[in-house]
Amino acid sequence: MRTIQMVDLKQQYLKIKEEIDAAVLGVLDSTGFINGPAVGRFAEALSAYNGSKHVIPCANGTDALQIAMMALGLEPGDEVITPSFTYIATTEVIALLRLTPLFVDVDPKTFCIDPAAIEKAITPKTKAIVPVHLYGQAAHMEAIMKIAEAHKLHVIEDNAQAIGSDYYYSDGRTVKTGAIGTVSGTSFFPSKNLGCYGDGGAIFTNDDALAAQLRMVANHGQSKRYYHDVVGCNSRLDTIQAAVLEIKLKHLDRYIDARIKVADAYDAAFANHPKITTPFRAAYGKHVFHQYTLLLEGVDRNGLVDYLATQGVPSMIYYPVPAHRQQMFSSFNLPETELPVTDWLTERVVSLPIHTEMEEDQQQHIIQSVLNYINQ
Ligand SMILES: *Cc1c(COP(=O)(O)O)cnc(C)c1O
Repeated sequence: MRTIQMVDLKQQYLKIKEEIDAAVLGVLDSTGFINGPAVGRFAEALSAYNGSKHVIPCANGTDALQIAMMALGLEPGDEVITPSFTYIATTEVIALLRLTPLFVDVDPKTFCIDPAAIEKAITPKTKAIVPVHLYGQAAHMEAIMKIAEAHKLHVIEDNAQAIGSDYYYSDGRTVKTGAIGTVSGTSFFPSKNLGCYGDGGAIFTNDDALAAQLRMVANHGQSKRYYHDVVGCNSRLDTIQAAVLEIKLKHLDRYIDARIKVADAYDAAFANHPKITTPFRAAYGKHVFHQYTLLLEGVDRNGLVDYLATQGVPSMIYYPVPAHRQQMFSSFNLPETELPVTDWLTERVVSLPIHTEMEEDQQQHIIQSVLNYINQ
């Protein structure tokens, strides 16, 4: 049996090696390392794929969120509602821009931001909501957009874990996540569902004026060469990464299907186990399984993780400390926040290997190892 990894990038690469190698060598040959033609081509292809009018490539997913907040003109002291149960990048950029994060709780089933909690958190200083499509499952965007419209708030989707996911509106429309809010950001970190071979990210919007602002902020606040209208940053997707992504985008739907197949097999193996809750799949969206995360009850989780390691099975806790309990926010004098669902989930989640190249014998070994420990 091949060594089991959380994500098997090598096997995935080998299947498209010829095409990738040729594309990367083509960039080397052209020496157009910055803003070469692949960057624009990839942005266009991604815009068509996602149904987002504008795609602005940038250096990573964290930058994508930061640039979105800068381009929206959010200012120090403005409040931004966000889940605490997320990767730190979502909340870090809020802090970096000296905006005030209002951490709210998540839904115990979807693990995504709870619309009712958003509504309760809104104050006159609130300017934006940042829903995170965690583990590949969309947040309840229809409810969130309604709240945002009623209170005139921006919605910045953190789509780093859910690119390619479909959202089903109650009126029958299907829209990709990342094409719903005012603006969205995604990441092309290698292990993401659409990953490059280094760092990369992109910002999406359907708003022409905002798109112009986003491009300007990402390019040193420059409106015309050497004329800088606003304070911006330097955030680019380099050409080699764009060339890789151009190829991988063509495989994204197949990659998602492969992940769902792995999730289906895990679901079947763990169904109805009294100590295991398998991932909930909301009817309003297509879960694209960036992570396959179990909720454990009455299991020594650290014991399980250690046991799995002895069996050659990696596993991860996403995330061991929720944002609102991170020391980085201690200087923010945030009001004491009670997030019981977030704390409850933090103690109980564990993520198993899931990727596009999982082999049957590997998955059987993972499943058997989990059950061996839990049923002992
Ligand atoms: C990966 C990730 C990011 C940040 O992406 P980088 O490319 O690593 O900067 C932001 N939010 C979430 C939810 C992520 O998973």
